[in-house]
Amino acid sequence: MIPFNKPYLSGKETLYIEQAVQSGKISGDGIFTKKCHEFFEQRYAFKKCLLTTSCTDALEMAALLLDIQPGDEVIIPSYTFVSTANAFALRGAKIIFADSTNFNPNIDAASIESLVTDRTKAIVPVHYAGIACDMDTIMMIADKHSLWVVEDAAQAIDSFYKGKPLGGIGHLAAFSFHETKNIISGEGGMLAINDERFIKKAEIIREKGTNRSAFFRGEIDKYGWVSLGSSFLPSEIISAFLYAQLERLDEIQNRRKWLWQRYWKELYEPLKNKGIQFPRFIEGASNNAHMFYLVCKSLEQRTTLLKELKDAGILAVFHYLSLHKSPYFKGKHSGNELPWSDHYMNCLVRLPLFYELKENEQDLIIANLLNLL
Ligand SMILES: *Cc1c(COP(=O)(O)O)cnc(C)c1O
Repeated sequence: MIPFNKPYLSGKETLYIEQAVQSGKISGDGIFTKKCHEFFEQRYAFKKCLLTTSCTDALEMAALLLDIQPGDEVIIPSYTFVSTANAFALRGAKIIFADSTNFNPNIDAASIESLVTDRTKAIVPVHYAGIACDMDTIMMIADKHSLWVVEDAAQAIDSFYKGKPLGGIGHLAAFSFHETKNIISGEGGMLAINDERFIKKAEIIREKGTNRSAFFRGEIDKYGWVSLGSSFLPSEIISAFLYAQLERLDEIQNRRKWLWQRYWKELYEPLKNKGIQFPRFIEGASNNAHMFYLVCKSLEQRTTLLKELKDAGILAVFHYLSLHKSPYFKGKHSGNELPWSDHYMNCLVRLPLFYELKENEQDLIIANLLNLL
């Protein structure tokens, strides 16, 4: 069976974990956490980076930082992972779901302004498959209506929009290092802070609502409870694992991009005329090869395809049930139809794409797709 995903290992993970253990400090914010923070701050010029235990946690930190209150409205695409919306729903926000574009699953930026009300506090675009949303339009709407922008950059490491790194455009951004992403630490995430006004408060929220970070820097002589917060920082064991991956970022990205291009080269021409939709990038959007997906013509076609691929020993998957139709949310939804979100829910297929995928395995996947579609 060709799996859908296989976690990449650089080989240094256990060595660095051992070093972290030997160092005598295995709780958070030790040497490896600092190395990871510096890596991101230097490579992408994010103003401040804070590792978290997941992207979900980074999104929850963002909701706390923006002081989301019950009744505040937050605009989010319906076609996304649960955490994007759940983080804000936890603070009592009213989630306003937006549709995807007709050419890729990203939020339809042109539809956002009609959803803005006096109660709107934030927009949370998701860079699906690491492909940039229309950030120029989103930031313009946010400026005009004084809204915050939190980028869900869970899938968007090392991807760019008009030369700017994704996660470096909104006021805040959340990354994921879950084992299905390009760079992993099992579970793990990061909050990137681009608006300096949030830096101090973010350190406090991440450290259980205390000013312990300032205390350890020697800026104050005792620390205590100064705001609401929680425990969002990962242990050094997680950070050590992550650092071993970051050292190999370029190599991982090159391999993934090579595989991605191979899928494109073999599949695009023959299948586009058969009504299969392919990833589309807006002008200025780069490709970080997080995912190779196809969009079938119908749910029936997708169901048959996934079954036939499985019979041929290939595990392809679909994901995201439109959140506005989820068991938890459907009774709360305004009733707006979100047809493109439903379309991707029913028709999108993700193909195996991971560092160790072999050329002959990819050939088999390609041959089967050309045969079955
Ligand atoms: C993976 C993912 C998340 C959640 O990441 P965790 O690190 O597992 O919490 C959130 N949003 C999107 C778009 C994702 O792909």
